[in-house]
Amino acid sequence: MAVKRVGVIGFPVEHSLSPVMHNAAFEALRMDDWYYDAMSIPPDILRLGLREPRNHGYIGINVTVPHKEAIMEYVRPDEKARAIGAVNTVDFRSNIGTNTDADGLINDLVASDVRIRGERVLVLGAGGAARAAVYGLLREGAAVAIVNRTKSRADRLVAQLRASSGLDGAEVMTLDQAADWGMSLIVNCTSVGLHPNIKQSPWIHGLPFPEGVTVYDMVYRPANTALMQQCVAHGGRAIGGLGMLVRQGAIAFELWTGVAPPIDVMYDVLRDALEQATKD
Ligand code: NAP
Repeated sequence: MAVKRVGVIGFPVEHSLSPVMHNAAFEALRMDDWYYDAMSIPPDILRLGLREPRNHGYIGINVTVPHKEAIMEYVRPDEKARAIGAVNTVDFRSNIGTNTDADGLINDLVASDVRIRGERVLVLGAGGAARAAVYGLLREGAAVAIVNRTKSRADRLVAQLRASSGLDGAEVMTLDQAADWGMSLIVNCTSVGLHPNIKQSPWIHGLPFPEGVTVYDMVYRPANTALMQQCVAHGGRAIGGLGMLVRQGAIAFELWTGVAPPIDVMYDVLRDALEQATKD
């Protein structure tokens, strides 16, 4: 039986949870001929390094830090990847590179019954994850405000997104201005609160949350971040980012295999792996 291989490239990549998630899905679906592994490729040899999986018949790969932007030169980026400015999934059969982060976030919000169309949404952060979030939220018809520690980076995000996708309507604000603007959803796309800095939050202590607000925190380690705790203490709802990680992976899985993966299996195995990592 010829093995159908997929995997993730990054540098370093040993910490990646993607092999655990995808291999659990293959096992649950008894897709014994599929296997997902991790490949470490240093940034200075990316073009050469890509020959490895290509020549060994890999069907596709996920792409993680620091290759997401650089790989755009060596694949055919689709509309989403061009808009977001980064590729996180490649199908070697077509050499098309796509980005599943925006749809991963939107699919998880929808699965969590969070309304998007016509809503005001505050995005915290202006890095790669924020760009995917702003793209997805604007595309789904939300009005978006962006707050970032470095304002110039947020200005750049808005300009780049307008140029790459034609999507308009994101406004850069301060956190105080955003609190007055009012929103039904806050998406944290900063790394603030990420393990081991679990006491930190991107929300100013004592600043009230809008009534009925939902916080979606892309940070998934820890599962219940300081920001999520603050929001719930003020009567809001909070959702952690593990579902997004699962759903962006699920889109790639289906792209390569043509089979819808078991979301619950993927979620459970990741939750267990993260719990174990916290104990270690
Ligand atoms: P990035 O490009 O490095 O951006 C980091 C962002 O965090 C920037 O906006 C940065 O602000 C802000 N930031 C960092 N430290 C800060 C601090 N002390 N105070 C205020 N702001 C701070 O990273 P990224 O790729 O966008 O990822 C951001 C987070 O999202 C990471 O935690 C990542 O793990 C998570 N993520 C989760 C998923 C998921 O599936 N759940 C997917 C993608 C990313 P400046 O611009 O001022 O530096």
